Amino acid sequence: MTNRREFIAQIGLGGSALLAGNVMAADLPMVADADPQGKALGYVADAAKADKVKFPKFAAGQNCTSCALFQGKAGAASGPCPLFAGKQVAAKGWCSAYAKKA
Ligand code: SF4
Repeated sequence: MTNRREFIAQIGLGGSALLAGNVMAADLPMVADADPQGKALGYVADAAKADKVKFPKFAAGQNCTSCALFQGKAGAASGPCPLFAGKQVAAKGWCSAYAKKA
């Protein structure tokens, strides 16, 4: 439940990014390994490196590309995510707020 609460809070914080869409996505910096928000959410640029002990809900095959929050174009190597306003996440990345696309 904590994760769910955090997720909802993050959506609120990232709302402006949602409104901005993915205009100029290519100009946005990638989320860095040391990014505090990334660390809080367990973000990794390579889903294979997700902390499976800390985040047991991680399942093989999950990554940003198949996440409902990923705003990159199909086939793009990276794209915006509302949880990381002003930055891009890797298409092959993952974080604990992962939500499978419908
Ligand atoms: S898994 Fe989803 S919520 Fe997490 S960084 Fe990737 S696109 Fe964003």
